[in-house]
Amino acid sequence: MENNQTEEVKVLIIGSGPAGYTAAIYLSRANLAPVLYEGIEPGGQLTTTTEVENFPGFPEGVDGPQLMANMRQQAERLGADLRSGSITKVDLSERPFRVEIDGEKEILAQSLIVSTGATAKYLGLPSETKFRGQGVSACATCDGFFYRKKDVAVVGGGDTACEEATYLASLCRKVYMIVRKPFLRASKAMQERVFRTENIEVLFEYNTAEVLGDEQGVTGARLVKTDGSERTIDIAGFFLAIGHHPNTELFAGQLELDEEGYIRVEGNTSKTSVEGVFAAGDVKDPHYRQAITAAGSGCIAALDCERFLLR
Ligand code: NDP
Repeated sequence: MENNQTEEVKVLIIGSGPAGYTAAIYLSRANLAPVLYEGIEPGGQLTTTTEVENFPGFPEGVDGPQLMANMRQQAERLGADLRSGSITKVDLSERPFRVEIDGEKEILAQSLIVSTGATAKYLGLPSETKFRGQGVSACATCDGFFYRKKDVAVVGGGDTACEEATYLASLCRKVYMIVRKPFLRASKAMQERVFRTENIEVLFEYNTAEVLGDEQGVTGARLVKTDGSERTIDIAGFFLAIGHHPNTELFAGQLELDEEGYIRVEGNTSKTSVEGVFAAGDVKDPHYRQAITAAGSGCIAALDCERFLLR
């Protein structure tokens, strides 16, 4: 790496969801001149949703991409240095940490905030991609409201799928759960909730072959049972709940991760196993995964980082 390509910064924020932008807002106001790299999906997961009705402060709701544009604008106005580009390598073995951008430039950072998020898993069907945002969603809490009194399906048999199916059942007319095994993987308590809910029908041993739809969006799904038989269900919403994977590949072997790959932090703080590296948002949170909790954890990371730098 050429020396003239190396730049030194006090704090580098990796990722541009609610966690990253909130950290940038706080650190700018603390005069710590944060530099933030936005990554391959500027704005993060919220840019793939439509209306967000549960983020406080927007009585009429707000468009997901608009909410992220607002956060970005706020961080920029306060002086954060927001850059496009992705981190391609990190070396956390000594401080300042070495961070490579787009395989070219190198930054030496006294501290790091990792807010690279998590990515919802999809089945990988072309029809699923086609209707993403038009009936296909990976977040019932975000989008369920738009399917009031309609029929929907949830794919998956884990705790998330059961939780989302139960949530959707309170809004929708009928909820199908499409489960590939002959049993649910979810905890007993969650399973019981599902089986007690009258308008949930669990379709065991089914896989989705195709999501069906027209110009208006999703209209159904074609399912194939493990015995080879087929059936079609009429639905307006197709919700994926087959897990998320945290975007932590860059940090494997350098930061302590849990069995699922999420960054481990110390108690209620954002402190990772490496001093001076802080984690915020979905990258350390397999449970809540909400924009507001991510923003809150971005604030925590900024405050932890500020204390670390002022020490
Ligand atoms: P899980 O990995 O637990 O479950 C994923 C589900 O999706 C499984 O039923 C799995 O099937 C299914 N699945 C995976 N890939 C496919 C595929 N390609 N096609 C069809 N089905 C598929 O993920 P969750 O998000 O449910 O949970 C993650 C963690 O978070 C868990 O530890 C869970 O306990 C926890 N959690 C806890 C909650 C709570 O306590 N309230 C709420 C939500 C999550 P299979 O079983 O066949 O592998």
